Amino acid sequence: MAKITMEHGSGGAATAELIEGLFKDRFGNEYLDKMEDSSVVPGYDRLSVTTDSFVVRPLFYDGGDIGRLSVCGTVNDLLMSGGVPRYLTAGFVLEEGLDTGLLEKVVDSMAETAKEAGVCVVAGDTKVVESSGGEGGLIINTAGVGFVDDGISVGARFIQPGDAVILSGNLGDHHAAIMKYRLNIKNDLIKSDNAPLNRMVRGLVEGGIRVHALRDVTRGGLGTVLNEFAKDSGSDIVLEENSIPVSPVVRDFSALLGLDIMYMGNEGKMVCAVAPEDRDRALQIIRDSEYGENAALIGEVRETMEKPLLIMKTAIGGKRAVPPLFGEGLPRIC
Ligand code: MG
Repeated sequence: MAKITMEHGSGGAATAELIEGLFKDRFGNEYLDKMEDSSVVPGYDRLSVTTDSFVVRPLFYDGGDIGRLSVCGTVNDLLMSGGVPRYLTAGFVLEEGLDTGLLEKVVDSMAETAKEAGVCVVAGDTKVVESSGGEGGLIINTAGVGFVDDGISVGARFIQPGDAVILSGNLGDHHAAIMKYRLNIKNDLIKSDNAPLNRMVRGLVEGGIRVHALRDVTRGGLGTVLNEFAKDSGSDIVLEENSIPVSPVVRDFSALLGLDIMYMGNEGKMVCAVAPEDRDRALQIIRDSEYGENAALIGEVRETMEKPLLIMKTAIGGKRAVPPLFGEGLPRIC
């Protein structure tokens, strides 16, 4: 099967072939098709802008792949500002020796996920680097732009005592899915949750829910995200351990390996703080949305005693502070 060579990064005929034959075919749209040095696109008053690089290994895993992840990760970060994701850029760093068939599969997955998430790829870049001796690696950077309506202000600083804290589904799925490959564990039930969260976020915004903060639960896990919520809002976040949704298979998997579910990453879950009056309606909207069927009310925001903390009321009736993740966590999960 054909492989990526240094020639594909030359800027000459082989590069053109790669761009025309592989990328343009799959990502094509009225902006990208002009093939100028930059794209001119319609704008908006308020924009959300973000970027992320994706280095996950393996490149393909149950429930997703680096292509789907590279779209979902950036789209979800745009959504967390309350806006509508519109444009993506895609930068590829390809290692010499990478199988072109495999690259095609990754780009197919990106194109399909971009369509699902309502974004178009308006600019791209490809570089080829020397082989590091492996089978040919792949790194993807995506940047994204979203449109944010006037009057939408979402952020941890807007969280207030009394707010309800809602999690959109089961914790730890992506982390467990990556880990099973690293440890060579066979279990078909463990799958990544890789997904764009457009529907549930738009449902909340269009449903008039007073959303104070939104964050996707990625690297560092819920424990890290909610510590940021506590710190940035100056309030305590109090969780009910019993109410945190985890699938039975991921619960067993994490118990077996001694992993704390609070620090396991997801790639298709979000946590939000909403005004208490909107709590039940917000929960229903998320549960009725695609990828939100296991959403749960997991806690509430309280006035802090001295220093803002994330506090867990445990299943057996105790209370403990949950610190943010210290140390490295699992590398190359995203
Ligand atoms: Mg995020």
